[in-house]
Amino acid sequence: MRNEEKFMAKPLVAIVGRPNVGKSTFFNRITGTKLAIVEDTPGVTRDRIYADAEWLGKEFTLVDTGGVDMDTEDVLLRQMRMQAELAIEASQLILFFVDGKTGITSEDYEVAKMLRKSGKPVIVVVNKTDNKNDEQNIYDFYELGLGEVIGISSSQGLGLGDLLDLVISGLGEYETDGEEDDTLKIALVGKPNVGKSSLTNKILGYDRVIVSDIPGTTRDAIDSVFERGGQKYTIIDTAGMRKKGRIDDKSIERYSVIRALGAVRRADVAVVMIDATEGITEQDVKVAGYVDSEGKPCVIAVNKWDAVEKDTYTIEEYNKKISADLAFMPYAQRIYISAQTGLRIDRLFAMLHTAYENNIRRIPTGVLNDCLQDAVTAAEPPSTKGRRLKIYYMTQVSVKPPTFVLFVNETALMHFSYQRYLENYLRKTFDFTGTPIKIIVRQKS
Ligand code: GDP
Ligand code: GDP
Repeated sequence: MRNEEKFMAKPLVAIVGRPNVGKSTFFNRITGTKLAIVEDTPGVTRDRIYADAEWLGKEFTLVDTGGVDMDTEDVLLRQMRMQAELAIEASQLILFFVDGKTGITSEDYEVAKMLRKSGKPVIVVVNKTDNKNDEQNIYDFYELGLGEVIGISSSQGLGLGDLLDLVISGLGEYETDGEEDDTLKIALVGKPNVGKSSLTNKILGYDRVIVSDIPGTTRDAIDSVFERGGQKYTIIDTAGMRKKGRIDDKSIERYSVIRALGAVRRADVAVVMIDATEGITEQDVKVAGYVDSEGKPCVIAVNKWDAVEKDTYTIEEYNKKISADLAFMPYAQRIYISAQTGLRIDRLFAMLHTAYENNIRRIPTGVLNDCLQDAVTAAEPPSTKGRRLKIYYMTQVSVKPPTFVLFVNETALMHFSYQRYLENYLRKTFDFTGTPIKIIVRQKS
């Protein structure tokens, strides 16, 4: 949605390619030890599906779409198609990995066709170009008809810098074509079968055809735009892919994480969906953690409420469990819905608006500092070894999410608990329901 302050999400760069072309080797080399980056986000670190990277001061997120080796040709091709589809949908730039030692395979041609059709920027990465001899093979890959081709060796670390230069210049275009329009963009996120398509369909009021069975074709429209009560919305689709048949659970999980990633980045607000019939799971916590760490406003929607046997205590029990598991996002509102019957969907929309409005809320500096004064008067800042924290003033530096800079005498004197106290005080004074907020502590020079 339009806002006076343009917000730029970190772009996604997707790696696509057959098993054994060296995708993981590359991924690990590029991200290296920086992979411990999101330690404070519950659950997000463990699987190496994506990682933030930086080159020449530009940040992006690298996503490895390929996970599992498949044995039979048939399944391999299907998996490759899904990878490509996913990359086209979720990323801003695609690195198409091929094997310089084996040459072009029939799957490579197939994937190239899909990528070409999509119009997404693609760099063909000829991996295993280990030496001068191998360099001869690079030119063969122009045959894929995909523009830029570069030879690298992931295991030897050759050509990586040149590739990253290309990535950065490829992403340059992305920066100028920001996705601004007048719709409120909603991402429905959650594990497979939680009810994302059902909710989308219920909201839209009709069944949309989302997957084409014709080989090699991809869906053109993945977003649904609609109007409701005079407001335009876009639902960013994160469902639909699993209908392609025999794909193992691990891949499905991987794909759903990546799709959620892409969707959340592009969204103004997210619905974190939980399956009431299963209760909150580790994967739900992961998805929620990601939404939080991206600074996105959200509502937690417990779906399939129609299918749960209820008594007086049921809601309370669910609430308790969710509060415990999602303790890092106490600001998020919760609602018990049914995508099937339409239960409380109107209320869900109201909550989404609240969350979004608060995500773009701007507090004037004067009012903010009055609040700070009150907070400091009510509870004295901490002191360490006779030195007391002094807070000079506070200012809001951005929205999406609301971000505040606190100027102090010495940053080391700020305690986590006092910072949390201040955050709570801000939340008590102003309405930030539904959105994360950020506080940055700076030393005043
Ligand atoms: P993935 O399945 O695409 O993720 O491929 P891997 O990263 O697991 O690599 C498959 C195999 O190729 C491993 O044995 C790697 O050591 C090897 N490999 C990866 N990169 C290179 C490279 O640049 N040159 C050579 N010669 N081998 C490589
Ligand atoms: P997705 O993978 O998240 O898109 O999930 P789907 O929308 O495809 O739903 C998975 C299954 O859950 C389907 O069989 C739906 O009919 C069922 N389902 C979805 N929402 C509800 C609901 O609110 N109540 C009940 N009882 N079943 C639901």
